[in-house]
Amino acid sequence: MHHHHHHSSGVDLGTENLYFQSMSTDSVISSESGNTYYRVVLIGEQGVGKSTLANIFAGVHDSMDSDCEVLGEDTYERTLMVDGESATIILLDMWENKGENEWLHDHCMQVGDAYLIVYSITDRASFEKASELRIQLRRARQTEDIPIILVGNKSDLVRCREVSVSEGRACAVVFDCKFIETSAAVQHNVKELFEGIVRQVRLRRDSKEKN
Ligand code: GDP
Ligand code: MG
Repeated sequence: MHHHHHHSSGVDLGTENLYFQSMSTDSVISSESGNTYYRVVLIGEQGVGKSTLANIFAGVHDSMDSDCEVLGEDTYERTLMVDGESATIILLDMWENKGENEWLHDHCMQVGDAYLIVYSITDRASFEKASELRIQLRRARQTEDIPIILVGNKSDLVRCREVSVSEGRACAVVFDCKFIETSAAVQHNVKELFEGIVRQVRLRRDSKEKN
């Protein structure tokens, strides 16, 4: 049934589906070498810069210093060294793949080990949408303490700013997540963003191990 649904909505999840089925459903997967895989999902309104951030991650502009494997149209894998330990991020940029799609949104809400909720600082509606998504995510993953970074993108567009830094920060406090402003266009804070999400997952892993 789901398979049919994908095709009717123009979403081709062929390779990704296989990939995820072959992976454990544990929230964070450790390989024998000690490397850890994190599934990080980009969500947020259309036009805020998710795909541009994903392209930087994929190394299209090559400001990050490792190789990236493209696993599908909207799935990227890259290994980073963060605080002396390697971590592989599988980045999913499928939120508004070929139009709005309820099944896809539910799927995205379930598959992430961590989330980047992106808005544009030049678009207040996208900021409000980010809050909505945070609430939906909390509802979808009630019992889990999921790492989330609220991302205010397009920080280079200073003259068009509609959402202040302090509003972004305050929102992150309310929603109990991290906050960063980025510019995908001038590649400001993008590397920090991906390192930050790795650190957030690790913090939770380490505190789990202590308990
Ligand atoms: P998506 O719909 O969230 O995937 O957004 P896109 O990545 O497709 O970006 C939408 C538009 O915003 C494109 O024209 C991008 O070039 C532009 N854009 C993305 N990030 C930035 C940014 O940081 N600064 C500026 N000035 N433009 C950006
Ligand atoms: Mg996009």
